[in-house]
Amino acid sequence: MIKELQLRLLPEQTANEQALKQIVCRETGAALPDVHAVRILKRSIDARQRTIYINVKLRAFINEEPEAPEYPVIEYGDVSGGKPVVVVGAGPAGLFAALRLIELGLRPIVIERGKNVHDRKKDVALISREHKVNSESNYCFGEGGAGAYSDGKLYTRSKKRGSVEKILHIFCRHGASPSILADAHPHIGTDKLPGVIENIRNRIIGSGGEVRFETRMEQLIIRDGEAKGVVTHTGESIAGPVILATGHSARDVYYYLHKQQIAIEAKGIAVGVRLEHPQALIDRIQYHTKEGRGSYLPAAEYSYVAQVNGRGVYSFCMCPGGFTVPSASGEKQVAVNGMSPSHRGSQWANAGMVVEIHPEDFPGFAPYKELALLKLQEQLEEQAWLNGGMKQTAPAQRMNDFVRKKNSSDLPVSSYTPGLLASPLHFWMPEFITSRLSEGFRCFGKASGGFLTNEAVMIGVETRTSSPIRILRDKETCRHIALEGLFPCGEGAGYSGGIVSAAIDGERCAEAVKRSLE
Ligand SMILES: Cc1cc2nc3c(=O)[nH]c(=O)nc-3n(C[C@H](O)[C@H](O)[C@H](O)COP(=O)(O)OP(=O)(O)OC[C@H]3O[C@@H](n4cnc5c(N)ncnc54)[C@H](O)[C@@H]3O)c2cc1C
Repeated sequence: MIKELQLRLLPEQTANEQALKQIVCRETGAALPDVHAVRILKRSIDARQRTIYINVKLRAFINEEPEAPEYPVIEYGDVSGGKPVVVVGAGPAGLFAALRLIELGLRPIVIERGKNVHDRKKDVALISREHKVNSESNYCFGEGGAGAYSDGKLYTRSKKRGSVEKILHIFCRHGASPSILADAHPHIGTDKLPGVIENIRNRIIGSGGEVRFETRMEQLIIRDGEAKGVVTHTGESIAGPVILATGHSARDVYYYLHKQQIAIEAKGIAVGVRLEHPQALIDRIQYHTKEGRGSYLPAAEYSYVAQVNGRGVYSFCMCPGGFTVPSASGEKQVAVNGMSPSHRGSQWANAGMVVEIHPEDFPGFAPYKELALLKLQEQLEEQAWLNGGMKQTAPAQRMNDFVRKKNSSDLPVSSYTPGLLASPLHFWMPEFITSRLSEGFRCFGKASGGFLTNEAVMIGVETRTSSPIRILRDKETCRHIALEGLFPCGEGAGYSGGIVSAAIDGERCAEAVKRSLE
């Protein structure tokens, strides 16, 4: 017999299968030896009250052998003879576009400017060790895109539940833990993501597609108002409709499109800093106990949002038990982001703390028109580099000092391995941002006693929360509004944000290409 139960349990009751089996016996009257297995279908933490509960939906196999986890069948046939489609970029959007193209019988040729996810790791390490940023292989560029060395959070505000589930199933089929299907806030972790990405690449190649690393698109081949393919940095031409999934850090691509007068527009972004607290402090706040999270609860998360003078101030991409990382993609830039391993076991909690910016908020950049907010990002990252000691050391300030407009005489130990340099962020960051961040911090501190503290350090600057540009495409056909054969895709095109929504957009663009070829 298979029984499904919806339960509200204490953390220690969900700690292992044996404990869950005993609960099943209590709830169903079954004898312990008859409960052969228990599988968690959905799990979420309810930390609103002093006593923390875990809401679980579970499936118990009573006198029955458990079935192996089943993922919906997706046929990846042999597409070696299929029509070629050029996919530029091997981030989540490009990789999931390629998988969907294979499902649809088309042959993806994925070109990626960076290295494969294994070799890329060495370049990422050099940023911390030697302060060298390889402009083709870094936290943003390379196989897996910006999502490879990340927390691998897979939750999204996307309402298309079916599409979200499909993406999660594909991740599982390529090696992610099935727990991502159960958790309310699933994440894979930076230690596990490379293996999953390699499996996806092998699937593409095994099905007759191609994945070419260290191959940068330099131009589109445009004839008669139609994109017919791309020219790479070696001068090679690759023919086919183009899915342009180059992410939000490929500024050379934006400059190229702008120069070619291929329609783009400025898009709002959010910028600020990465805020790092001791994880133990966040655990105490979120779990309302001096003892912290104990043995059975995961590193606590938080999410804050406030409106300050007409603009949103909010936490972004929170990484419990994680690390703040140097995510610049070129010289003379400091930009930061966050990642966590699957166990989220580090002693730090970090999150972006950002202020919403509209194109009209910085009139000084207005002459750059479509590129205005990209220019703002560039300027802030250069200022961070200058104020951080002109290497990957990042400018930083204690949180309370910032709110009080006071220099920090010292800084706490941080996870940011290139190192921090004390800097008056309140002084040199634009007042539009600092005044709102300060007010936001006060609000968050009032909502959660202890959050506004000098134990937390602000690390500058967090600028790459989303694309500063939208590459204009038709809503229905996903085709560029003026150029046939070009399908702007994923975060860089301005139509998604985050791993799952980029992957969903990749699938959508693949379907659009298929329709355009019919
Ligand atoms: C450190 C970090 C942590 C993050 N953590 C999370 C998280 O936990 N959860 C989450 O949902 N999101 C996270 N994000 C954001 C997420 O990674 C992005 O939203 C997502 O990767 C966007 O996918 P994409 O495919 O559209 O673009 P990208 O992932 O940016 O991929 C674009 C790819 O295109 C390649 N490319 C660029 N230009 C060219 C060219 N000219 N020729 C060939 N190739 C090119 C790049 O090298 C890159 O690999 C994180 C980002 C960073 C940097």
